[in-house]
Amino acid sequence: MNKLKNFPYQNVLVLGLAKSGTAACKVLVKNGCTVRANDLKVKETSDPVIAELNKLGIEVTTGSHPLKLLDEIDVVVKNPGIPYENELLIEAEVKGIPIITEIELIHYLITAPYIGITGSNGKTTTTTLIHEMLEKSNKRSKLAGNIGKVAVEIAENLKEEETMVVELSSFQLMGTQEFQPHIAVMLNLFQAHLDYHKTFHNYKDAKARIFANQTEKDYFVYNAEDGEIATLIDHVVATKVPFSIHEKGLTNGAWCDETYVYFRDKRIIAKENIRLVGDHNLENVLAAVAASMLSGATKEGINEVLTTFPGVKHRTQYVEQINGRLFYNDSKATNILATSKALDSFEQPVILLAGGLDRGNDFDALIPYLTNVKAMILFGETAIKLNETGQQAGIEDIVFADNMAQAVDLAFELSDEKDIILLSPACASWDQYRTFEERGDMFIEAVHTLK
Ligand code: ADP
Repeated sequence: MNKLKNFPYQNVLVLGLAKSGTAACKVLVKNGCTVRANDLKVKETSDPVIAELNKLGIEVTTGSHPLKLLDEIDVVVKNPGIPYENELLIEAEVKGIPIITEIELIHYLITAPYIGITGSNGKTTTTTLIHEMLEKSNKRSKLAGNIGKVAVEIAENLKEEETMVVELSSFQLMGTQEFQPHIAVMLNLFQAHLDYHKTFHNYKDAKARIFANQTEKDYFVYNAEDGEIATLIDHVVATKVPFSIHEKGLTNGAWCDETYVYFRDKRIIAKENIRLVGDHNLENVLAAVAASMLSGATKEGINEVLTTFPGVKHRTQYVEQINGRLFYNDSKATNILATSKALDSFEQPVILLAGGLDRGNDFDALIPYLTNVKAMILFGETAIKLNETGQQAGIEDIVFADNMAQAVDLAFELSDEKDIILLSPACASWDQYRTFEERGDMFIEAVHTLK
């Protein structure tokens, strides 16, 4: 078990008791810190998490944010989701108490190099690819973040021969002080999470923390075609490793021509053998090839992953072939941008299953991407609006469905051999489902039933 070494703070307030906060509490107290924990959500002392923390000597307050919790506190470790308008955080700032997130602790837990991945889109896919590529190259890798375990838990238990691969959001990166991945990957930067960061500038600043502490011995893998990343690049001290799906012959990066993917001058894989679809995924592939090669992955290992990897669940995930029709689950596409990327990935005729929560926007921006769509199956609050969009795009077959099973049946009826049947709703799921995962799972289930 790795110890927290040289952590400069003694008295810590952990704000937010979700998985990461609870894990941080335990690591901190085990390493001799005095810890208080606070969560707005009321929790009984009989709650197993609270009981466990109390037993470890952690004073837990829930249901409110009393400002006296900040007395004698040296640092606040906050849950990434908690906005900075929180009264305790405002007061901490007034008092000059630093505010960090759980990932900062990684720096004090491990000295081994680790890989961090950020970007507005594609983080989970790329993080998973890098992890798989290392594993298939007989390197031991540990996945942390969204789909893996909490980073601090992984770091605490990381063995010498293992590499940690961690997905990083702007919320986690904001406020980091010493956090320093050996390989930092930045996929793209779009306007996102402005409710939290207020301005695009702040959001970019948070993302830029990923390379802020890197030295020349570290690597910064970045999308050379992204204009927003280009505005940050002068501040990068690490060795720059660009990737691009259009620019050929990048001598220190990952690139492709019409037929192959390369890292530097080494041919890695034929593009036709890559199972993931779409240019956006090709970008993720190039980023993952660069990062994994820099950590010792082999061409063979990378090939094994890319020829079989069907996509992360719910992200343009290949599901099944039935009578020559290919089914894809892109339930994670909760906005127009994501659905347009999915539609752009296919040259074959598509039957699009879409609709969901109405956020008040129209869907005009989707029209240019509907050229390959031969039929639409619509559901949820936005079905009527999407019907108008489909009509404007000249789609003749547009039908409404009450539920996913019916939608899948209708799609199959309207399809021919070689068609793509794609769930990519362009809307959040909360009008009909608890989560986008539930929606995607129901799609997969309906496809299996159909089979
Ligand atoms: P994140 O973890 O950043 O949310 P995911 O890998 O979960 O990213 O992908 C989420 C959605 O974003 C996918 O359904 C896909 O439509 C889109 N996407 C994935 N990779 C990229 C990329 N490199 N550029 C733009 N969009 C992408």
